[in-house]
Amino acid sequence: LRIKEINVKNIITKSNLPDTDYVVNPYTGCINACIYCYARFMKRFTGHDEEWGSFVDIKVNADSLLIKNTDKYKGKNIFLSSVTDAYQPIEKKYQITRKILTQLIKYNPNLCIQTKSDLVIRDIDIIKKFNNPEIGFTITTLDDSIRKKIEPNTSPVIKRINALKKLKENNIRTYVFIGPFLPLITDWKNIIKETKAYVNHYCFENLNIYGSIWADIKKWLENNNKSYLYEYNKIKLLKKSYWDKLKNEIIDYCNLKKIKYKIYFYHGENKKNK
Ligand code: SF4
Repeated sequence: LRIKEINVKNIITKSNLPDTDYVVNPYTGCINACIYCYARFMKRFTGHDEEWGSFVDIKVNADSLLIKNTDKYKGKNIFLSSVTDAYQPIEKKYQITRKILTQLIKYNPNLCIQTKSDLVIRDIDIIKKFNNPEIGFTITTLDDSIRKKIEPNTSPVIKRINALKKLKENNIRTYVFIGPFLPLITDWKNIIKETKAYVNHYCFENLNIYGSIWADIKKWLENNNKSYLYEYNKIKLLKKSYWDKLKNEIIDYCNLKKIKYKIYFYHGENKKNK
């Protein structure tokens, strides 16, 4: 693992993500090392040639960039984080995210944090000071033996569920992000069953089975579950029709169970329920 402390010029960046005005990424790189990570393209922009998941740059001056007062972010949606996990294991020591949040409060933004780590509950005291904050946990599987292989340095799923419970007890809005949806692995109905007592809404995202992400997933399937590899190849051929069918199943299920949801299949054609 290569850890480097760096100084940056900006820490809040404009964003095109759905429902998001700005993003804050306290780190470059992510030790969680998920095999399906879309953020690996960051390597190109930051001069890293190491393997994704094996390096992290720590933005040690981030909070000092937020000292000045401004109305610019009042009522705007600020999201942590788009290309890293703000609560990846190294945050325990460096507390960059905690320091950033402490400064962000005075800007009065709508705060949304999405993570795979229960370390976020350490900062409940600060999060509660924001107007209507929202915390999301990504869950792609309930099976912790699979979780260890596909998201090696994240919190065990049970810890994420306990963290959701704790956030709910503190009256903080929560959601579960079920994505990227891994065919035959993402047991989405059970994820909903196990979490719905503590969750305000769900988000769903499909898997991008192309390019370098597919290369890594294929390697994992070859080494761990060859029969799934056959199915994934079939899904690749089916392309959009596979995901459209799944999308309809999710919509029907959520409507039946009166569950709030947002579907981010094929970014750009988002469906949001009322
Ligand atoms: S937690 Fe997010 S940013 Fe980090 S490796 Fe996993 S998918 Fe990528």
